[in-house]
Amino acid sequence: MTHRSVAKKKIVAAVAGVSALSMLLAGCGGSGDSAQMENGKPVVTIMVQQNTAQIDVAKMKWAQDLEKESGAVIKWQRVDDNAWTQQKNASLTGGDVTDLSIRAYHPEDAAQYPLFENLADDMDSLPNVAKFFKEKPLAKKMVEIDGQINVLPSSRGKSFQASGQHMLINKVWLDKLGLEVPKTWDELTKVLEAFKTQDPNGNGKQDEIPMNVRALGTGSLGNWWSMFLLINGAGVVTSFNAGPSGQGIAVKDGKVYSWATSDQFKQVVEYYHELFQKGLIPKDALTKDDSKYQAELKSDGETALTGVAFGWDGTQFGVIGSKLNKEYITIPVPAAPGVSQDETVWDASGDYNEYEDYHMAMKKDLPEETKKAALKIINLLYSEKYSVEQLYGSIPDYTTDDGNHTYTIKKQFFNEADNGKAPALQDRLAGWIPDNVKFNGAQDADAIQAADAPYKEQYSHLDQTKDKMPVYVRQNTEDTNTFSNNNAQIWNYGIPVVSKWILNGGVDQQWDEYVKQVNNLGMKQNVELWQKAYDAAVK
Ligand code: MG
Repeated sequence: MTHRSVAKKKIVAAVAGVSALSMLLAGCGGSGDSAQMENGKPVVTIMVQQNTAQIDVAKMKWAQDLEKESGAVIKWQRVDDNAWTQQKNASLTGGDVTDLSIRAYHPEDAAQYPLFENLADDMDSLPNVAKFFKEKPLAKKMVEIDGQINVLPSSRGKSFQASGQHMLINKVWLDKLGLEVPKTWDELTKVLEAFKTQDPNGNGKQDEIPMNVRALGTGSLGNWWSMFLLINGAGVVTSFNAGPSGQGIAVKDGKVYSWATSDQFKQVVEYYHELFQKGLIPKDALTKDDSKYQAELKSDGETALTGVAFGWDGTQFGVIGSKLNKEYITIPVPAAPGVSQDETVWDASGDYNEYEDYHMAMKKDLPEETKKAALKIINLLYSEKYSVEQLYGSIPDYTTDDGNHTYTIKKQFFNEADNGKAPALQDRLAGWIPDNVKFNGAQDADAIQAADAPYKEQYSHLDQTKDKMPVYVRQNTEDTNTFSNNNAQIWNYGIPVVSKWILNGGVDQQWDEYVKQVNNLGMKQNVELWQKAYDAAVK
C-alpha cells in the first residue's frame, strides 16, 4: 500500500454515503477517483531511487522550490538502490506504483505491466520534454515502443558523452625508462617487458605487474573494463558500458555479427596467451576476486605496482590529487598486427553515459487533478533550471547561474558528495541538460572528458549508427528471453574454453570447433534477432 491509498481511506471514510470498503476494493487511484487533496492542493507522491551517498531528496532545496512552483503537495519517497532491486518486482506484479517514479521502471517494464500513463498523448502539457525529444530524437527513440511513451529518458548533457572504458598506462614509468606510448601490440609487448625487468617503480624489487586484467566473468564475455577492449585495436567496435556488445554482438556497416567468433577475437586471444606466457600478466588474473584486483591497482598509495590496465580513469589507482592518480594517463588502443592506425577504433559507449531510459514514469489513470499536477511537475523537472539543480544541487547554494546558460559548480558540492552526502540526484535526474548549457568547475564531467579525449581520432574511424548497436535498439520480451537463455548456454561452454586458450594456448587447433559450438548454442540466432531489432529501429 502506498501512502496515498492509506491516506485516501481516511478521507473516504469521512465522506457520508460512500462505502470505504467499496472504494478500497476498487483499488488505488483508478480513473474516476477523486484526487487526494491537502489544504486545497492535489497531493502527488514521487518515488526516487537514490544512491546511498545522497541526502534525502525531500531535504534538497530545489525539491522544496519545485513543490511551491508546482502548486501541489509533493510526498517524496526515497528508495535506495539495493532495496529497490528487492522491491521492484513486487511493485510491478502487485500494481503498487507511486504517482510518479524516478529511475525505477524501464520501457520494457511498462510494456509488460500496463500500469503507466502513455505520455505520448500528453506532450501539450510537457513542452520541455517535447523540446528535449525534438533536439534529441535519439532520446525519444530510446523510450518509444509501438508509439507509446510510458517512461521518459534523462540526459546529463554532452559533457558526459564519453565511454566509461579506457586504457591506462603509467606515464611516470614510461618517462623514467625513456619509452613512448605504444602504438601497436608489438610495441606494447616491448613496453611491458621493460616494465617487468627494469624496476620502473624504483624500489629495487621486481614487483611490477606489467599489465593487469579483470577476471573473466561467467555471464558474458565482455563487461566493464574487460581485457577484450583490446579488440578495438583490431578494428572491432565494442560498447561495454551496456547493451548486447558484452554478449559478443557487434555491428559493421549496418550488418550485425558476432565478435566472439571473429578472426579478430582469435587474434586477441592469441596475443593474450603470449602476454601470459611471458609473465607480463599475473597467472591468476582470470579468476581473481575483483576487490583483490582493485586493491592491486591501488597498491599502497605510494609505490605503483601496475603498468597497464583498463578502467574509468586515474581514479582506478587513487583518488583525484593523489600520487598514484597522477601517474596514469589514458591512451588510444594500440593497433593489432596488420591493422593500420586508421582502422583502429574505440569503445562506443558514450550514449549510455549521457542518456538513461528509465527516469520518469507516471501511474496510469490518475484522478484528473492529480494528473494535471503531476504533468506540471514533470515539465518543471525537465526545464533547464531544475535539470541543472537535480544534477549539481540547488542554485545558488551549490551551483551559481552565471547567465547565458552558464553555471558554476561550487567546490562545496563535491566536498559534500565526497563525504557521502551529495545534495543532488546527480545521475538519477529526471531531466535534460541541453547542448547550450556550459558548466564551470564540473570536476566529474571534466575528468571523464579528459580521460576520453585521447580517443577522439579512433572515434572518428567509426559511424555511431552503422558500426555499433545504437542505444535505442531494443528487443521485444520474447526475443529478450531467447537472447538471455542462449547467452547462458554459450558462455557456460565458451568462457572456460577461452580461459584455457589464454592460459595454455591451443586456440588454433580448437577454433573451428569453438565457432561451431558457439553458433549452435545460440550465437547464430542471437545475431539474427539483433539484426531484426536493428533493422526495425534504424531506418
Ligand atoms: Mg620494483
